[in-house]
Amino acid sequence: MPEILEVEMYAEAARRVIGRRVSRVTHLDSLVVADPEIVRSLEGKRINDVTCLGKVLTLHTSSLAVDLHFGMAGRIIVDGRSPIDELSYAASDDSKWIRFGLSFGQGFLCVSDPRRFARVHPSHHGEGLGPDAMTIGRREFRERVSGRNTPIKAVLLDQSTVAGLGNMLVDEILWRADVDPRRKKLDAATVDIIHARMRVVLPQLAKRGGSHTGRVSVELRVPGSACPRDGAILSRATVGGRTTFWCPKHQR
Ligand SMILES: [Zn+2]
Repeated sequence: MPEILEVEMYAEAARRVIGRRVSRVTHLDSLVVADPEIVRSLEGKRINDVTCLGKVLTLHTSSLAVDLHFGMAGRIIVDGRSPIDELSYAASDDSKWIRFGLSFGQGFLCVSDPRRFARVHPSHHGEGLGPDAMTIGRREFRERVSGRNTPIKAVLLDQSTVAGLGNMLVDEILWRADVDPRRKKLDAATVDIIHARMRVVLPQLAKRGGSHTGRVSVELRVPGSACPRDGAILSRATVGGRTTFWCPKHQR
């Protein structure tokens, strides 16, 4: 699933189209694209910036901005290339999965999503999103996360608390912070540890190639896997609505 690291890679790829004028909106999937008539009015406009906040990528023109959400399996393809390889995400470049597409005089940008959970709409300009997980400071993170009467896993997945974390990154961060994902009402000291681990994990995994490259890697996310730190069999349950893996021995 695309999390903040993947969306950063998508943004990096999308920045190639800055300065290009949209000649045609080629795909407007009825389920994926909201307000298609407004989105279609990208035609004739020049892309002058690409930004992201959490998992939302925004294409800016001088008079219209459009948000792209990638859902569970959405990928961006720019000029025929995607920054994410197919194996990690079980997606493909099959043209029948293109849900949103822009063609420029030269080249194109599109969102490919076999599962149709991607969303494209006129920009909400960050409304409803918390601060970006890459940059949120320790104090603000502590204020938003500590003391909440909800499992910490759910708190961190809530995009209005912190924007950008998804299922795999949260499991990785809590594994490194020695915190049980089901715990509630965390004290400030524990939340500070989570923040510190997050600030290390995000750039580290970005360098390695994405959310699936953590110590609790995608290969370990199957029943019966052992904790790479102490060998305990990882626990598995639905926490915060998502399949969660954690170590019953060192995560407390
Ligand atoms: Zn362990």
